[in-house]
Amino acid sequence: MTYYADMSSDSMWWFTGEPLCSIGWLNPAYEYPVDTLSPGVWDVLSVRLSAARRFLCHRGLHECEYCWQNTCSGALLFPSVDLQKLFIAPPMISHYIEAHSYFPPEEFVEAVLSCPQHDSDEYCDLLEDMLEGRPDASNFLEQEMLSRAARIRRNDYLSSLRASGDKWAQ
Ligand SMILES: [Zn+2]
Repeated sequence: MTYYADMSSDSMWWFTGEPLCSIGWLNPAYEYPVDTLSPGVWDVLSVRLSAARRFLCHRGLHECEYCWQNTCSGALLFPSVDLQKLFIAPPMISHYIEAHSYFPPEEFVEAVLSCPQHDSDEYCDLLEDMLEGRPDASNFLEQEMLSRAARIRRNDYLSSLRASGDKWAQ
């Protein structure tokens, strides 16, 4: 997997630079912080990470180059608590933490734990606010808008079915 140093604003995203902040793009050529998260934190963090939305704008599949037992594609996005950074992490970050004792920065852990649910409007609004006015992020935002509009239409449709008593919409 392409290496990006933790807390750097490099990434192979459609846009780079601040507020993007790379986390967990590990590569065996570089050392990474090793430690164990407290079980209480990991229990919640692992659930949040696996429920996170995967943005599939990255091309290709990443393989874990430490054990070759895990692959992932795409990226996860979490606004920092102070909304100054937009953390971008590979979905495989859970595997790195669990199988290879990767210890992510505390600020990232806090961001994941306090992030609104990824299918919520609140989350979409946060991303839009953070990337507003970025011409290089417009492709990404356009896609977001489209998928968000589709989701709202789907929810409206399901609500109307529910209102009409359609049992398949329950
Ligand atoms: Zn591995």
